[in-house]
Amino acid sequence: MLGRGVQVALLVLVGCRLLGGLRGKLGKKSRERRRLAQEAEMVMSELANADHYLKDNFEATPEAKHSVRSSDGAQLSPSLQGLSARSKNTEACRKLSELERLVERRGGFPPCAVVNGDLDRTLLRFLIASDYDVGRAADAVDDLKVWRRDERIDSLLGTAMKSLSAQKQNALRRCMPSTYHGRDLRGHPIHLEQTGRYNWEVLRHCEPEDLVRVHILAQEYQSRVLFPRASRDVGHTVDKMTNVLDLRGLNIGVLSNLQALSIFKEVQRIDQKYYPEMLNVTYIVNAGWVFRAVWRVLKVVFPAREQGKLKLVPRGKKGLEMLREAIPEEHIPAYLGGSCTYVKGCISGPGGTGDKACDGQEAMARDLREAGELLDRGAGADEVTAWALGQRKLAPE
Ligand SMILES: [Zn+2]
Repeated sequence: MLGRGVQVALLVLVGCRLLGGLRGKLGKKSRERRRLAQEAEMVMSELANADHYLKDNFEATPEAKHSVRSSDGAQLSPSLQGLSARSKNTEACRKLSELERLVERRGGFPPCAVVNGDLDRTLLRFLIASDYDVGRAADAVDDLKVWRRDERIDSLLGTAMKSLSAQKQNALRRCMPSTYHGRDLRGHPIHLEQTGRYNWEVLRHCEPEDLVRVHILAQEYQSRVLFPRASRDVGHTVDKMTNVLDLRGLNIGVLSNLQALSIFKEVQRIDQKYYPEMLNVTYIVNAGWVFRAVWRVLKVVFPAREQGKLKLVPRGKKGLEMLREAIPEEHIPAYLGGSCTYVKGCISGPGGTGDKACDGQEAMARDLREAGELLDRGAGADEVTAWALGQRKLAPE
């Protein structure tokens, strides 16, 4: 007898195949989308380059950073006018400008969600995620505003951990081993996870809402602290993550754990809706047949353009070489053969520090305490960025 989870999985599989077939028939539309995607990539990388980054983040006034003062009939907003003629003449750039004006007319973009103080690039991410449909992207921004207000996301950096008891925090570290761990060679922060060692008994200690909240906290920490720091250090915009997921121990049982699946889906929904286009690459280490089976089911919830960013790392020496091409030796965790020298350990959980904090978690906790003090005093978006960049120390009360 097949378990219920497996039956559901098979049904979803068949559904995927059908949808895949339909997608193939929309040829013309997808050619246009490919062209827009190439244009968007060009604009995106120009926006990330050093000139634009420095002008936008260190020389602009706060007002200029957070609003598009749409100009006297000019076609493009002031910051886009600085792009090369080649970028400016693309349809992607025209749509971005249109989106900026529309968002401005509807009351602007929430300041705490402008990543790296770069509204152009932030909005371009929403445009890409909305398939270059300006109206849909503007609606997504409206949804973002409502969500951030209702869920009090602006202050989450300071409140999320405070609302979790020590016992819950221990359970999270023990049952869901994950942490930040240095940066890759291009400056993207690295997120480690021992996904195969996730233990869903965590749900005996924590509510599903706690787990979702902790995930949103991680997104806020990346956007408001890790990305500005990484951008400052490499001298151009960094707003994407590199993930390294170790699947050793992954059990097919996760497919029949409906609660785990629904948390997984909710987290994906939030990422795609409110934090779109923030993935550089995900390395999957120690993937066996179980992963292939699980992935066939779970990939329905991933947008197609993100599926290509998944890289399977082969076992053994070859795999280590693949990681070394992207990650400096000292930031490859010791359990994957790197030469990390963290004192307490690379990761928590059964393969690491148990329910104690590892180095990365300790650093994050320190940041969250400081951010919490700032936010308690009513700090705005720019003050938090200045603190993250070390331009402003925490003054005693
Ligand atoms: Zn380490």
